[in-house]
Amino acid sequence: MQVPIVIQAPDEKINLGEVDLQTITSTQRLARALKALAVCWILAVASVVIPIIHFVSVPLLFLAGPVVAYFFYRPNQLIAKGTGLCPSCQKPLVLENVSAEWPVKVFCTACRTDLNIRLKI
Ligand SMILES: [Zn+2]
Repeated sequence: MQVPIVIQAPDEKINLGEVDLQTITSTQRLARALKALAVCWILAVASVVIPIIHFVSVPLLFLAGPVVAYFFYRPNQLIAKGTGLCPSCQKPLVLENVSAEWPVKVFCTACRTDLNIRLKI
């Protein structure tokens, strides 16, 4: 489903764009959350071999796993693909597999500006 969006920079400049929204089923959301949890816990186990750092990394990654999983479970829509120009530098934004929780906050990799994306009503 293609929907129009408004991309807004902190200095109130705006550009228009379009995103392809994809609804995620609860099964897909659970799979995404479990994958995120697995990545965190695998990194926790893998970091056991790093001297000194493992005192912090292992408990931190172990505890971060459920938190990261929650953020991957929460959205029920994804921006599968989107097009639009950064209002600050006019370069194309890369919008792929971004959680669609409005307003969506993205980061322009060209000019390092934080951008807000909202649905155009
Ligand atoms: Zn930019």
